[in-house]
Formats: sequence, structure tokens, C-alpha cells
Amino acid sequence: MYKTIVIGTGPAGLTAAIYLARANLSPLVIEGLQPGGQLTTTTEVENFPGFPEGILGPDLMENMRKQAERFGAQFKNGWVESVDFSQRPFRVKVDGLGELEAESVIISTGASARYLGIPGEQENVGRGVSTCATCDGFFFRGKKIIVVGGGDSAMEEASFLTRFASSVTLVHRREELRASKIMQDRARENSKVTWALNRTPLAVTVGETGVKGLTVRNNETGLEELVEADGVFVAIGHTPNTGFLGGQITTDANGYIVVNPGTTETNIPGVFACGDVQDTRYRQAISAAGTGCMAAMDAEKYLEGTMVHDWSESLDK
Ligand SMILES: Cc1cc2nc3c(=O)[nH]c(=O)nc-3n(C[C@H](O)[C@H](O)[C@H](O)COP(=O)(O)OP(=O)(O)OC[C@H]3O[C@@H](n4cnc5c(N)ncnc54)[C@H](O)[C@@H]3O)c2cc1C
Repeated sequence: MYKTIVIGTGPAGLTAAIYLARANLSPLVIEGLQPGGQLTTTTEVENFPGFPEGILGPDLMENMRKQAERFGAQFKNGWVESVDFSQRPFRVKVDGLGELEAESVIISTGASARYLGIPGEQENVGRGVSTCATCDGFFFRGKKIIVVGGGDSAMEEASFLTRFASSVTLVHRREELRASKIMQDRARENSKVTWALNRTPLAVTVGETGVKGLTVRNNETGLEELVEADGVFVAIGHTPNTGFLGGQITTDANGYIVVNPGTTETNIPGVFACGDVQDTRYRQAISAAGTGCMAAMDAEKYLEGTMVHDWSESLDK
């Protein structure tokens, strides 16, 4: 039986593991299908504090893992299929490892960005295709950018990217946008934003020097067109990785874990959540790491029996 099982090895899970290991709690960390998390799919990370020259995403994650191992965190490769939080100790069923028991559990399984699923997209992530304007906008100074999407986050990303880009073209498959009026107005008032509405994305088109633009079908004429750009930002939302919880943890309508504000406590005492899986707003490596630290400290207090907040009842209501 483990004192704490950490599910997920992105910046949140690994930071939790470092703190737990340094508190002598020898956590077991389950890696999932993406050891190191989302940052292993990118190249330069320029906004993680402490690396003035930037650091490659996979290197940053390898460093965090080594730091956790140095203090005694154990890692196991596996995918959590289901959990049973109805009894104590908690049970965590891991593909290939069977059922593991723990006194406390930290959920740090992230939220996966949704992609369009079109040719040229996946192979160019980090090479002209991005799902994070805050992370990658800076790489497109003076360049042409496409933002795909029709919701609030697409409008926000488009407006934000005009700080760097020479122009931003918003591509959406319908004429109408889902975004709120205020967000639409903000984007429409921005002279750098142009619109390619009623266009269905078909492929990310690549030339000799990288991404050339997005091939779309004009739904009015039925003809294919190339919307030229150096970068394509896909802003069609994220899916939090919470399916394995089987409804035992309170989530919002979109599946994000609800925590008591200012803590990492979920509706079940002893189960904590950190990182993107509970973050509908920031979704950054440093904010994930910050909440990972909080989850470890919350778990430590819970295990000591000195947890002062337990808001689980209020969350159930
Ligand atoms: C291409 C790209 C570039 C980015 N660039 C930057 C950047 O420059 N700067 C920045 O601050 N942020 C960047 N981000 C965002 C950043 O990567 C995320 O905010 C951060 O990784 C979230 O950390 P996390 O620990 O919450 O989750 P994740 O990194 O998503 O890790 C989730 C972990 O959970 C595991 N997991 C999921 N489900 C299960 C399961 N059922 N069982 C076991 N394990 C499971 C996965 O294997 C993974 O290890 C970028 C994101 C992407 C996609």
C-alpha cells in the first residue's frame, strides 16, 4: 500500500512527486501513455522560469523526473483504467499492474488539446502548428498566422496573436461564431484580424521552408482554397483526461475537476487534483507545476491528519 499515488507525469505530477519524495512519502507515480506529458511534444520552452536561454520540452521534463527520482519517487509505466474512491484505502486499477492501494491520490492527468485531425497537422505540431498562443505566439513575430475556431478561446487567441503577427486570419467552418458577442467584437475591431468564415479546413499545407498555410473548402462555392500563413493555431478546445474517474469526482460540465478554490482538494477527502485537469483558464507548465506543489503539500497535511480545510461537503452541494 502506498501513501500517495500520483497519476500523470507532466509538470504537475512531477512537481508533486518531487515535493512528496522530499517529504519522505515515497510516492508511486504512474506515467500514462505520455511520460513527461504535453511538453514532450514541443521543442523550445522559453517561458519556464530558470532557463534564460530556454530549454527543450523533453529535456525540461527529463530534469523534473530525475529530480523526483533523486529523492525516492518510484515510477511505473501504466495507464489508469479506473479508480475506486468509495472505500479506504483507495484503489487505482492500472493497465498491466492490476489494482494498487493508496491512502491518498493526486490526479494530474492533464487536458488534451483538440486537433482537427487533418493531414499535415500532427506532423507539424511544434513546427508551425500550435494549440497554445501564449506558448508559441512569440515565435511568429512579423509573420502571418491562422487561428482555427469559432469560440471564445479562438477569439482570444486571435486578438492576443496580433501582438506578434503581421496579420491573423480567423478560419471557421460556419458563417456564425459560437463566441460571445463581446469577444467577437473585440476581434472584429482589431484591424490585423481578417476572416475566412464558412471554410472547412482540409489540410495543413507545407512548402520547402515549412508551413505555407491551410487548405480549406469554401463552403459557398465548394472550391478548395489556400489560406496562406506561416503558422496555424488550432483553438477548438481541450478535453480534460478524466474519463477513468467514472464520475466519482465532481467535475464541471466540460469534465474539468472542480477543486475548492485556492486548494487542490476535490470532493473526496484524500484525493487531490492539480495541473491542466483542473485548470480551465491558465493551462501553462508553470501553473501546472505550482498546483503540483500545492497538491503534494495538501496530501502531506491530509496524511498527517492536520488538514484544516475539508470543503468536500460544500462541493457535493
Ligand atoms: C505543443 C505544446 C506546447 C506547449 N508549450 C508550452 C510552453 O512553451 N510553455 C508552457 O508553459 N506551456 C506550454 N504548453 C502547455 C503545457 O504543456 C501544459 O500546460 C502542461 O503540460 C500541463 O501539465 P500537466 O502536468 O497538468 O499535464 P500534462 O503535461 O498534460 O501531463 C498529463 C500526464 O497524465 C498522464 N495521463 C493522462 N491520463 C492518464 C491515465 N488515465 N493514467 C495514467 N496517466 C495518465 C499522461 O501520460 C501525462 O503524463 C504546451 C502544450 C503543448 C501541447
